[in-house]
Amino acid sequence: MNSMTNESLTIKEAHEGLVKKEFSACELAKTHLEIIKKENKNIFAFLTITEDLALAQSKAVDELIAGGAYLPLLAGIPCAIKDNMMVDGVKCTSASKILENYVAPYDATVVKKLKDLGAVILGKTNMDEFAMGSSTENSAFGITHNPRDLERVPGGSSGGSAAAVAANQTVYALGSDTGGSIRQPAFCCGVVGLKPTYGAVSRYGLMAYASSLDQIGPLAKTVEDARIVFNAISGRDPLDSTSCEIESTQDYSNKKFTIGVPREYFIEGIDPQIEKIIRGKISQYESLGHKIEEISLPHTEYALACYYIVATSEASANLARFDGIRYGYSAKKAKNLLEIYLQSRGEGFGAEVRRRIMLGTYVLSAGYYDAYYLRAQKVRALIKQDFDEAFQRVDAIFTPTSPSLAFKIGEKTQDPLQMYLSDIFTVSVNLAGIPAISIPCGKIGELPVGLQVIAKPFEEAKIFAIAKDLEE
Ligand code: GLN
Repeated sequence: MNSMTNESLTIKEAHEGLVKKEFSACELAKTHLEIIKKENKNIFAFLTITEDLALAQSKAVDELIAGGAYLPLLAGIPCAIKDNMMVDGVKCTSASKILENYVAPYDATVVKKLKDLGAVILGKTNMDEFAMGSSTENSAFGITHNPRDLERVPGGSSGGSAAAVAANQTVYALGSDTGGSIRQPAFCCGVVGLKPTYGAVSRYGLMAYASSLDQIGPLAKTVEDARIVFNAISGRDPLDSTSCEIESTQDYSNKKFTIGVPREYFIEGIDPQIEKIIRGKISQYESLGHKIEEISLPHTEYALACYYIVATSEASANLARFDGIRYGYSAKKAKNLLEIYLQSRGEGFGAEVRRRIMLGTYVLSAGYYDAYYLRAQKVRALIKQDFDEAFQRVDAIFTPTSPSLAFKIGEKTQDPLQMYLSDIFTVSVNLAGIPAISIPCGKIGELPVGLQVIAKPFEEAKIFAIAKDLEE
């Protein structure tokens, strides 16, 4: 095989290689498939490898190239899709036993958009069951290991997607982010991950966790790659009424920005080495001529509690459809309809998913609705207002993506509260519906640190411009 079929290529480099015929799309797909097959035992980033699909798609791209046709940037470029997004004819499990044998009957809009551009789909990636978790340990089918240190978690819930990109098993991947599930694994594995503005990307064909928070976004090796993928998947989709067209005509090159650094994100409990790296990076950015200002997001301390009320409430409603009749797993020994419901759900859902459904059902129940759900909605409005006020003074906000490094496998599985704390710096962004990126920013030993850049709704272009200047 041509030595230029290099698995560490970015989208642009791979595209140029294809155009210059340094390698074919089939060769590029095969190189990646070989790495996946070789490493899936150790890393376990993939639940399903779609070799036949990848080879058919890459062959079609090679024919395009041979015919001298114009080649879209993503044509022939290998990608991986989190297993909660539908790829027509391919198993889609959300890493749950309840959907173990479920085959997607259609393409999610994001998948259709990628296919139309000639993308090559290598497979479906592992995740926390129904995207509930921060470590990919909640998958019903096995744990994904962090390629930077196999004894550690890759983060979650899009841990398979992040690990696959970090291990050069794919050029880029799609993940979903409800409270941090793209940014947190991106930081753990040392890759770039974008949570777009709520509504920027269609959720049609994404298995819903918490519908008012869920967004699909890219995990990639560089900010530029994340930008290319975001531009490909975003925009209004008639099949998702919350999606909208976005205009990004603004040119941010050479602009000087005012950056807010919220004091609530440098709290007690943050790893001092992480704080040092992040503060160093911020000073470095300042020395490029940008202005840094300390700001306050005063309701930050309520964000996690608010998130876990809103997310579990919506989850308990969304997951009601898994009743043992309409989809997937159905209990064998049930004697009547009620038993089918109870046993199928009891046996099909894992422990964390059951915990979330119970929490959500509790906070929505008569007598508690006002005290929890309604109050959380009010707190959510205050959190959004904090950001609105901050963005009157600053162009963007910098924070650490997480207060601590990728943790050891098993370290937090017995303590759900400790696990929930992993999301302390990411959930506010989902509650406010705004965009944020996590980019790698130095390392402690072999373990990556992540910097989060947050901006106003639909200002992804600004985020990319800033993140490029920060990129190493
Ligand atoms: N870890 C958070 C949760 O379990 C966020 C997950 C996500 O963004 N899907 O809810």
